[in-house]
Amino acid sequence: MDFEFTEEQEKFRQEVRDFLEQEIKDGAWQPSCDAWIQGYSPEFTKKLSEKGWLGLTWPEEYGGQGRSHTDRLILTEELLRYGAPAACHWFADRQIGSGILRYGNDEQKKDLLPKIIAGEAYVGLGLSEPEAGSDLASLRTRATEDGDEYVIDGQKMWTSCGMFMNYIYVVARTDPEAPKHRGISEFIFPTDQPGVNIIPTIDITGSTAWAEVFFDGLRISKSCMIGEKNRGFYQVVNQLDYERAGLERLMGNYPLFDAIVKFVKETKWNGDYLSKDTLIRQKLAQLQVEFDIGRLLTYQVVMVMEEGRAPNIEASKAKAYSTAFEQHLASVAMDILGLYGQLVAESRYAPILGMAPHSYLGSKGYSLQAGSSEVLKNVIAARGLGLPAS
Ligand SMILES: Cc1cc2nc3c(=O)[nH]c(=O)nc-3n(C[C@H](O)[C@H](O)[C@H](O)COP(=O)(O)OP(=O)(O)OC[C@H]3O[C@@H](n4cnc5c(N)ncnc54)[C@H](O)[C@@H]3O)c2cc1C
Repeated sequence: MDFEFTEEQEKFRQEVRDFLEQEIKDGAWQPSCDAWIQGYSPEFTKKLSEKGWLGLTWPEEYGGQGRSHTDRLILTEELLRYGAPAACHWFADRQIGSGILRYGNDEQKKDLLPKIIAGEAYVGLGLSEPEAGSDLASLRTRATEDGDEYVIDGQKMWTSCGMFMNYIYVVARTDPEAPKHRGISEFIFPTDQPGVNIIPTIDITGSTAWAEVFFDGLRISKSCMIGEKNRGFYQVVNQLDYERAGLERLMGNYPLFDAIVKFVKETKWNGDYLSKDTLIRQKLAQLQVEFDIGRLLTYQVVMVMEEGRAPNIEASKAKAYSTAFEQHLASVAMDILGLYGQLVAESRYAPILGMAPHSYLGSKGYSLQAGSSEVLKNVIAARGLGLPAS
């Protein structure tokens, strides 16, 4: 067992930190919570691309760097630590590109991967529908063959990257007669075309990072299908492991964790620093314990990926645990900040930039998005403990 990073990996971490600190010093952006999923900055994504930090693990023949999953872990850990606005490329870089590498044909790899690496393809995730969330195989969006094309009709909801995507990844039913898991296929296509209507979803925090997407007689080329026709459900299950696996499930609110620790060190209450209050110290120390456990669970995911295996139970454990940590962090921050803590960022009286209420409200969705905690625990029960599938 070796918990150390190599000298080269530490050097890479420092390089990323230096870059991000300079960005903040230059006023390019301000660290914020949920910036990996809500922080829209084409300029920032372009800068990462210029550094060669998009598609880090992908093969060099498609413009990637062929580097390790551990290097990517280091990069994402630092992006999250500094609350960097990475949403434009996050989904494509995290899962869609890898899906194309695994199931796409050579033409798709040569066309799409360089666009993602160049920081030009922002890919939204179109899986869920009004009647298909945990039970994704119930989806009703149809892709009907017509000559050289498919005609897409239906509705997606909670599409991440929704308001700024220029490509969308969609799962749709290609065989309505087949058993529900066996008649689904994966597609990717540009959104800027007739037949696509994108309506923002305003979530509980006021963010419009998600959207409902309607397809009405949209015609796409057959070459937009990824992988095998009617095998899309099995392909997507594999991709979901990568969606769940990352440190963003643990560190999406790291700027809040950092800020609340600073706040108790700097703020006096009844003549003494909050950092001397026993209860506050206990609460923050407990969070640190949970944070460290979540980090180890996520590192375990990366270890599995380095071995070339798909992280399934590992990703489920890491996500279920880490999202609970983030919800706990937000609650503790609200407790410590008291009544002022409820003020949102727009108020000049809001402590720590209103991050606490944002996280408190936003974190409710963490245990739903990318697979609810209950569903993940079903995976752990069935595949980890050998209990009967539910
Ligand atoms: C903030 C946010 C972002 C999202 N981003 C995206 C996105 O980018 N793309 C996308 O396609 N979707 C996205 N989603 C949708 C997300 O994937 C679904 O919300 C999720 O799969 C749950 O589906 P549902 O909302 O239909 O709830 P349901 O599936 O109806 O579940 C309702 C409740 O029942 C429980 N439940 C369901 N089935 C079981 C079971 N078998 N055993 C035990 N309990 C069960 C669930 O845990 C949950 O508590 C996002 C959701 C949120 C909140």
